[in-house]
Formats: sequence, structure tokens, C-alpha cells
Amino acid sequence: MKIDLSDKVALVTGGSRGIGFSIAQALAGAGANVAVLGRDGAKAAEAAQALGNGRGRGYGCDVTQVAQVERVVAAVEQEFDRIDVLVNNAGTTRDNLLFRISEADWNTVLDTNLKGAFLVTKHAARGMIKRRWGRIINIASVVGISGNKGQTNYTASKAGLIGFTKSVSKELASRNVLVNAVAPGFIDTELTRRISPEARDALIKAIPLGRLGQGQDVAAAVLFLASDFASYITGQLLVVDGGMVL
Ligand code: NDP
Repeated sequence: MKIDLSDKVALVTGGSRGIGFSIAQALAGAGANVAVLGRDGAKAAEAAQALGNGRGRGYGCDVTQVAQVERVVAAVEQEFDRIDVLVNNAGTTRDNLLFRISEADWNTVLDTNLKGAFLVTKHAARGMIKRRWGRIINIASVVGISGNKGQTNYTASKAGLIGFTKSVSKELASRNVLVNAVAPGFIDTELTRRISPEARDALIKAIPLGRLGQGQDVAAAVLFLASDFASYITGQLLVVDGGMVL
């Protein structure tokens, strides 16, 4: 059996690069039309065009800004008629030890990773509820389960996103809107290239599968959760980390 999303419309926040772009590629590869969101609208448009076959459309949108979220969800529904699959992937880090985290850095991380998912879910889920079909997939992180030194803001946002996933799944299940989260481990993207080579080597040693994850590893899990193969799965957290956090 093959995953076929050819009648579906997906929206991927932070789809202009990294894991989000791999997710957009996987969804488009299965036949979906994909709306790619990022703060930089030109980059989002470029990424959308790279999906090929005219399947993508890029939108500039800061997910922390409610007016921008409302405007873009309406624009996507106008262009593609509906949103069937939402992937809340936009995320950021401002790593530091507890006493060195500024209030601004706390807010940036919580607003982007947690409030952003809340705002986009709230606006995109309305149509899913009406049509009695929807898939919402939130990109969390294994450190939202395990905790991590130097990431109190980030881990709080990701643990919050896992709780949000479970609660929304309970609220929307009766409308056949399935809500799950994926928790990537250490994935090779711009976000993790900021880490020193020494810290990177130490992290790889802690991964039983002996390599960093790739965006495609996470995208495969998202594609499964968006597909009909996952139609009896909701409120779950799927860990994609090469065995790092066992
Ligand atoms: P990148 O930094 O490579 O990409 C982040 C994406 O999010 C970009 O497209 C960026 O576009 C967009 N973005 C950032 N802030 C906003 C915002 N306020 N509004 C809209 N879009 C925004 O990150 P990754 O691909 O590495 O990470 C993707 C997700 O996966 C994140 O949620 C991250 O926490 C999670 N994750 C990553 C791991 C890793 O090892 N890389 C591990 C575990 C989880 P623009 O700058 O134009 O806004």
C-alpha cells in the first residue's frame, strides 16, 4: 500500500528550510498541495517553488502574531479551498543557563514554539472540524521529555507542546481531527549546526544508531501520521531520535 495525499492540502509552518522543508517535500511527494510558511516570505516562496509540479505556495507569516496567522490561514483557504493537514513545525532556540536567560529570550522561544502552535491550530482547525477530517502534527523534541541543561526555555516550550497535543486531541477526536506530536532527537539542520564540533561529536556518541538524524527521518513519521495508515492514532508522541532517549 502506498501513501496517497493527492486530494489533500497541507500547511507547514517553518517549511522554508530544515526539517519543515523536508516535511513539505514528503507531503508534496505524496501528492498534497502544500502551503509553506516562514517569516521571510521570499524564502518561503522559493522553498514552495522547489517542491515542483506547482504543488507549493509560500506565505510570509510570523506565527507569534495573531493578525498574520488569521490573514494567512484565510489566504491559504482561499487559494486551496481548505486545509486538511497542519504541521506546527516553526521553532527556535535561545539556549543559555537559567540565570543568563533574559525575559526577552524566554518570551521569544515560548511565543514561537508554543503560542505559535496554539494560534495556527486555533485558526486552521475550524475548517477541519466543519469537514469532519483533519490531521494536526506538532513537532516537539525529545528534550521536552528528558529536559536538558541550558535549554530551560526550549524544553518548557516543547513539554508544553506535548501537553497541548494531548488536550487538543481529546477536544477534536469526536470530529475526526487527529492530533499527534513527533519528537525528533538530534537532527542535522541550521538550528543544530550552531553547536560546537566537540559537543556535536559527544552527542553522536550518545545515539545508539550512531548518526545524526536527517530531515527526511522526521518527515517520514509526519507523512505516516498524515496518512490513512494512522487513522486510529491520536494524542500520541512519536519519538524519532535513533534511540537517543530510551
Ligand atoms: P531551522 O532553524 O532550520 O528552521 C526553522 C524554520 O522555522 C524556518 O523555516 C524559519 O523560517 C521558521 N520560523 C522560525 N520562527 C518563526 C516564526 N516566528 N514564524 C514563522 N516561522 C518561523 O529549524 P529546524 O528545522 O532544525 O527545526 C524545526 C522544528 O523541529 C523546530 O520546532 C525545532 O524545535 C524542532 N526540532 C529540531 C531538532 C533538531 O535537531 N534540528 C530536534 C528536535 C526538534 P524564518 O526564519 O523565515 O521565519
